[in-house]
Amino acid sequence: MHCPFCNHQESKVTDSRNAFDQNAIRRRRECLKCLRRFTTFETIDLTLQVLKRDGRYEDFSQDKLIKGLDAACRHTRISHDQVRALAYKLTSDLMERQVREISTKEIGEIVMEHLKNMDTIAYIRFACVYRRFKDVNELKSAIEHIVPEMITEQPLER
Ligand SMILES: [Zn+2]
Repeated sequence: MHCPFCNHQESKVTDSRNAFDQNAIRRRRECLKCLRRFTTFETIDLTLQVLKRDGRYEDFSQDKLIKGLDAACRHTRISHDQVRALAYKLTSDLMERQVREISTKEIGEIVMEHLKNMDTIAYIRFACVYRRFKDVNELKSAIEHIVPEMITEQPLER
């Protein structure tokens, strides 16, 4: 990415909140030589294919990701803006890693890794959908995995 002012090749990204808009990622950059700032629009190749549980493929949809996240995060501390920011981040990460194919299971694991640190309820709700727990014991072990002290050391109040 050449600096439009001095043509230097190296720049750093100054805004960590990458705006993902349709098929482009907008970034604020700073030239490492002349220190001027500029904005870049990096078009992304949306050829990311999602392998579904039934073996079929579909185009990756950020909207679908946002919908799933919104459902899991409703009435939690995570706002819709945070949901969008997380979806943008996950999408940009996948695009940057040039991933061409990913399974719904892998997407679910990545999302849960983030939600785990954001909100326990949102994590559990999302896990319920993605892991498709067969019974309450599977759910219990998933909860124990993230909040062991809650399960083992704090008996329910009567
Ligand atoms: Zn420059």
